[in-house]
Amino acid sequence: MSEFKTGLEFAKQQDQNDILKSYRDAFYLPKNKNGEPLIYMTGNSLGLQPKATKQYINQELEDWANLGVEGHFEAKTPWLPYHEFLTESMAHVVGAKPIEVIVMNTLTANLHFMMVSFYKPTKKRYKILIESDAFPSDKYAVESQLRHHGYDDKEGVVLWKPREGEELLNYDDLEAILEAQGDEIALIMLGGINYYTGQFFDLKRIATLGHKYGCNVGFDCAHGAGNVQLNLHDSGADFAVWCTYKYLNAGPGSLAGCFVHERHAHNRELNRFTGWWSHNKKTRFNMRGEFDQLPGAEGWQLSNPPILSMAAIKASLDMFQEVGIEKLTAKSKKLTGYFEFLLNDLSEDAIKIITPTNPDERGCQLSIQVKNANKTLHNKLTEAGVISDWREPDVIRCAPVPLYNSFEDVYQLVEKLKTILNE
Ligand SMILES: *Cc1c(COP(=O)(O)O)cnc(C)c1O
Repeated sequence: MSEFKTGLEFAKQQDQNDILKSYRDAFYLPKNKNGEPLIYMTGNSLGLQPKATKQYINQELEDWANLGVEGHFEAKTPWLPYHEFLTESMAHVVGAKPIEVIVMNTLTANLHFMMVSFYKPTKKRYKILIESDAFPSDKYAVESQLRHHGYDDKEGVVLWKPREGEELLNYDDLEAILEAQGDEIALIMLGGINYYTGQFFDLKRIATLGHKYGCNVGFDCAHGAGNVQLNLHDSGADFAVWCTYKYLNAGPGSLAGCFVHERHAHNRELNRFTGWWSHNKKTRFNMRGEFDQLPGAEGWQLSNPPILSMAAIKASLDMFQEVGIEKLTAKSKKLTGYFEFLLNDLSEDAIKIITPTNPDERGCQLSIQVKNANKTLHNKLTEAGVISDWREPDVIRCAPVPLYNSFEDVYQLVEKLKTILNE
């Protein structure tokens, strides 16, 4: 027996019993021309704006207006150590220790800075393993690192591919690759959750396996942070990077996160690019003398950061701190399980969910493959008031986000999809 039922009543009842229901009101929901809220299913692309964000940013604008440069020390949240006020809550979100986490730069930039430290090719071991359907920016970054070090950007990339006729990646295949050419692979760099299929990888299993073959292991957790419990520390990965504008609701292009495992925290031998913000805080403003490396992930910072973006991140993280990633993922599993139940109940031959059915191998996103579909299906959904995401050739990605999406949202989405498919 399923824990779910069909029908609108069931959805409404679930919303009523939802302990996180009040958070929907803490966000601005995009509306159509008539002022009615749209069904927003793209929190995996750009998270919605918390209503509180404006106050957080306004506070910094005010402090800047009133204090000028003194705001570095005198602002309500002093700018000089501002990133430190984000560390603990961000560490909680990604399952890391505070010394392992820093908010800085943007995502692809962080990926490059991490590769400066953790992609150290040698004549024998120079290849980088990525998933075949990696996010384009990650693929480009990896290829350019290969070229930067003088290697061929095709020959140097090892792809972990799904089997013929399958969509998801299989760990046996990863093991086989490492068995065959593990001693040539310098770095394994995978999306923690694949952006296309929504497959949430077993980070610990991959990191353990990679290390066994002498590879460094890093993850791009753009689709994981704020969505699933990443447990980055326990995974043992060398590094991870993520953005804050998807599930972390910190606004378009906001600063990104970066994780460096504790075992590297005090390693001064690790090559890295540095700036004055990587230097010992106590002597940073002496401006003279030798470089003195800050320990931990903080030691990878370069610049004094944009406070307005950090204020938006703080607004969001304060909410995550209040809710707790455990409660959030508990609701998420239920909401996405319900979504899956309704889609399966359609018994439409035309659609296939390519995201794993095991709730521990996915976050909130379901990727729905539609037979013989083209983008007009997506356009029809848009006309019907659903904001979803279309990926060529035939996949719709929908991500019911537990902080602001409701069971009724999911119900309405599937109803609209049914109507369109039956046309
Ligand atoms: C969203 C996303 C990006 C985007 O990179 P930016 O540097 O923030 O533009 C890169 N990689 C993955 C896996 C993503 O999901």
